[in-house]
Amino acid sequence: MFADKESFKQAYLTKISETEGIILEESSPWDKYKTLVILLKEKMGSYRALTRNCPARSKEVYYFSMEFLIGKLLHYYLVNMGIEEIVREGLQDLGINLDELLRQEADPGLGNGGLGRLAACFLDSMAFWGISGHGNGIRFKYGLFEQKIRNGFQTEVADNWLKNGYPWETPKLDKSVVVKFKGNVRVENAEGKWMFYHEDFEPVLAVPYDVPIMSYDNSVNINNLRLWSAEPLSNELDLDSFNRGDFEQAVSLKSEVEAISYILYPDDSSRSGRELRLKQEYFFVAAGLGSIIRSYKKRNRALADFPRWVAVHINDTHPVLCIPELMRILIDEEGLGWDQAWNITVNSMSFTNHTIMPEAMEKWPIDLFRGLLPRIYMIVEEIDRRFKERTARIYPGDGDLVRRTQIIKDGQISMANLAVIGSSSVNGVAALHTEILKNEVFKDYYRIFGYKFNNKTNGVNHRRFLLAANSDLSGLITEAIGPGWKKNAEELHKLLSVRDDRSFLEKLARVKYLNKCRLAERVRETQGIVLDPLSLFDVQVKRIHAYKRQLLNLLKIMELYNRLQRDPGAVEGSHTFIFAGKAAPGYHYAKTVIKLINTLAAKINKDAGAKDKLKVVFLENFNVTLGELIYPAADVSEQISTASKEASGTGNMKFMLNGAVTIGTLDGANVEIQEAVGDENMFIFGLRAREVLDYIRRGGYKSLDQYYTSPDLKLCVDQLVNGFFETAGEEFRVIFDSLLLYNDEFFVLKDFDSYLETYQRLQACYADKEQWQKMSLVNIAEAGIFSSDRTIQEYAEQIWKIPRVC
Ligand SMILES: *Cc1c(COP(=O)(O)O)cnc(C)c1O
Repeated sequence: MFADKESFKQAYLTKISETEGIILEESSPWDKYKTLVILLKEKMGSYRALTRNCPARSKEVYYFSMEFLIGKLLHYYLVNMGIEEIVREGLQDLGINLDELLRQEADPGLGNGGLGRLAACFLDSMAFWGISGHGNGIRFKYGLFEQKIRNGFQTEVADNWLKNGYPWETPKLDKSVVVKFKGNVRVENAEGKWMFYHEDFEPVLAVPYDVPIMSYDNSVNINNLRLWSAEPLSNELDLDSFNRGDFEQAVSLKSEVEAISYILYPDDSSRSGRELRLKQEYFFVAAGLGSIIRSYKKRNRALADFPRWVAVHINDTHPVLCIPELMRILIDEEGLGWDQAWNITVNSMSFTNHTIMPEAMEKWPIDLFRGLLPRIYMIVEEIDRRFKERTARIYPGDGDLVRRTQIIKDGQISMANLAVIGSSSVNGVAALHTEILKNEVFKDYYRIFGYKFNNKTNGVNHRRFLLAANSDLSGLITEAIGPGWKKNAEELHKLLSVRDDRSFLEKLARVKYLNKCRLAERVRETQGIVLDPLSLFDVQVKRIHAYKRQLLNLLKIMELYNRLQRDPGAVEGSHTFIFAGKAAPGYHYAKTVIKLINTLAAKINKDAGAKDKLKVVFLENFNVTLGELIYPAADVSEQISTASKEASGTGNMKFMLNGAVTIGTLDGANVEIQEAVGDENMFIFGLRAREVLDYIRRGGYKSLDQYYTSPDLKLCVDQLVNGFFETAGEEFRVIFDSLLLYNDEFFVLKDFDSYLETYQRLQACYADKEQWQKMSLVNIAEAGIFSSDRTIQEYAEQIWKIPRVC
């Protein structure tokens, strides 16, 4: 990339005058940041031109995802290129502080949480393995809202991340695609062949913006994240309206079109059912497939061979329209017959399910769907008709099976059903989740298409969340076991050899302490709250959701506080409870939980009697950048969802990589974490998934029983509404009611005792420093299997059928 510091400086100075037309002294921090990005991007572009992927892996993977939470790129890419030091020192010679430039970068909030972050980790690992694997998504003008806390409440501020421009992206106007909405379909029979003509449609221009994806030490393999922006087909005004003086009409079409890529829906795991959302889904699907087919045909390959050269991956149901859209292209535009088109389509498509929560299962009303996508609707109907016919033929007499598995019923189109029927692979994201898919959610399909179902336990990019985010720990690990773990996370196992090395454990503790100081410093700067880095940092950071049970954590803290009131000696050690996470703006319960966290924090933090024992903080605006600061600073990772509800979780893996010890339920990938580290290195409590599912199916749980049999718990629950929070009034009634009036859907009260007992056990372990350090070390050592490199290797071999050669 750069031979040395001097050649970097030279290139940088040239670039700044070239791109900004100014000399260094006149440039702003933004100019300086942008120049560095453009310099690196050009270098990457020239590598891309020289070499393309591993030849044996020439099958292209297109990862379709509504969300990509890529985080900031500059620092991460400097680490991957191995030039952070050269650049830092070179800039310093020029009087520039690299850290100031790094702060200029926007963290693109193009996702809600785990699902979008997973997509970003996968892009990295595909690049790492030399797979030609590209992301396909939407360039939302506004990402997920920025969260501000005002008087303890969440308020939302628009995330105008593009306001200064985004220098990593390159618009490719010549690669634009026209996407057609609404209109009519004219059907003609030409010499026995049915022809379909989509007419009077509303065209939208999809313009691609490409972001280069590079991984560690692999600069010759640059992949692409293609994000689509919606623009009017003609950038000219509606001149007739304009000339009539109707200015509003003249610009209205433009804004209606641009609305498609205007903003990301801020709902995590709940469907919105709005027309705009369906427009977004079809928009990036049609644009992405349009450009894939165009480049495929340029290579003069036969369409029949499409699945051999191209894999299309559908991340959750948002891009499921890939299935009927590819059918449409093959039939209407390429003239193939149904059966051939269907073979090609199914063999190209694979689908990942991310949730079993019924409210998150995407369904569209027929009228809305048909009005917006008339030709696609016809195709979905035909897929459904043929599938029903086939099912009835294979399972004669089982009319119920046909009814349960059809795509269109009760006036709605089920996107999950379409996904399973139209893909060759259906995977869950953790072993437990996949079992629940096979035995519950998709059990009928499992009977019909057993061969399609498989598990791919999620992973995280260990280079971002350990190598780059926790450089002190990375340095320590490399000192102990060499650098091999960066390219092969399984090598972290070697750390087990220093498990009994007192001096290594001391160093490990020292690094954790420094990371806690770093986080404490940030909290002091931003919130004026002083944290004690010697206290236990107990962290729960993730979206705020009833099933994730931030409330259970809060009741625990209230109980500890109550104990302290009764007996100042009752709480051992000193605890800092750290929360962060966004609530969907329309999710009243979740927003009330945020208010409760802040209200409890205010009460405890101002109580002199609790000062050395308990402290609670809520950090504003959780995103990838904040995560990179928090995960390395955690002693304890809270993964306490209601068993069966969290499909996998990936936060749990990021914490583990950074040496936090998990307290959690046997849910999602926690089950596999337990298998990896053993019961002695993790704290498991609460109902098992089977028990939860049985209660849900058969009933029998009464939250009032829990409430009346445990006086300590009853007090905590009562405190939500009895004036304990002096200024709260009826504010927390919804939470109180969720527990008692609505019978505690997420088994918070049921798991309370078990959680507290387990927390006390954890606290005793924490007091034994050496034992704790060993537990921490084992967690890091066993985290290798949770690298997304492992996950992607499995996807490549088993789903996309790409051999492992390079
Ligand atoms: C990893 C991550 C998540 C997912 O966290 P879970 O604990 O698995 O829910 C959400 N948001 C961000 C910003 C993340 O980095």
